[in-house]
Amino acid sequence: KLPVVAIVGRPNVGKSTLVNRFIGRREAVVEDVPGVTRDRVSYPATWTGRQFMVTDTGGWEPDAKGMQASISLQAEQAMRSADLIVLVVDATVGATATDEAVARTLRRAKVPVLLAANKVDSERAEADAATLWSLGLGEPHMISASHGRGAADLLDTILENL
Ligand code: GDP
Ligand code: MG
Repeated sequence: KLPVVAIVGRPNVGKSTLVNRFIGRREAVVEDVPGVTRDRVSYPATWTGRQFMVTDTGGWEPDAKGMQASISLQAEQAMRSADLIVLVVDATVGATATDEAVARTLRRAKVPVLLAANKVDSERAEADAATLWSLGLGEPHMISASHGRGAADLLDTILENL
C-alpha cells in the first residue's frame, strides 16, 4: 500500500494547484472562486522513483458548520488517514485565524506535518512567508504552486519524512 500525503488548508490557498504539480497533470480542479465543495480525491504521484498517493481535500459546506470547523475536520480526518500532512497557507495573506486553528489541531498529529507557504512567486515575497513561523509547525517551505518555485525541495522534504 502506497504512503498517503494529505494536502490541507483553507479554500483558495492553492491546494489543488499544488496537487496538480505533484502529479504532473491538471486533474485536481483549480477554482478561482473559493468555497466549491468537492470530496477528497487521491492521485498517484512519483518523485525520485518513489511512489505515493496525494490527497486533495475539497471545499467546505457553506451552510454546514462554517469554514473553520470544516477545515479542522478535514485536518482531523487527515491525521487519521494520512502518513504525512502538508498544510498550505497563502503567504500573500499571512496566517489567518483559520490557519491558526488548523495549525493548533495539526500540532497534535502523530504523523509529520509540513508547512507550505504558497504564492511565493518571487524572492520579494519571501519576507511574507517568514512570518508563518508563528504557526508553530516549523519552517515554512516557500513555494509557488503555479510557477513551480520550491516544489522540488518540498517534494524532497516530503519523501525524507515519509
Ligand atoms: P484551493 O482552493 O486551495 O484548491 O486553491 P486552487 O488550487 O484552486 O487555487 C486558488 C487560486 O489561487 C487559483 O486562482 C490559482 O491559480 C491561484 N494560485 C495557486 N497557486 C498559486 C501560486 O503559487 N501563486 C499565485 N500567484 N497564485 C496561485
Ligand atoms: Mg481545491
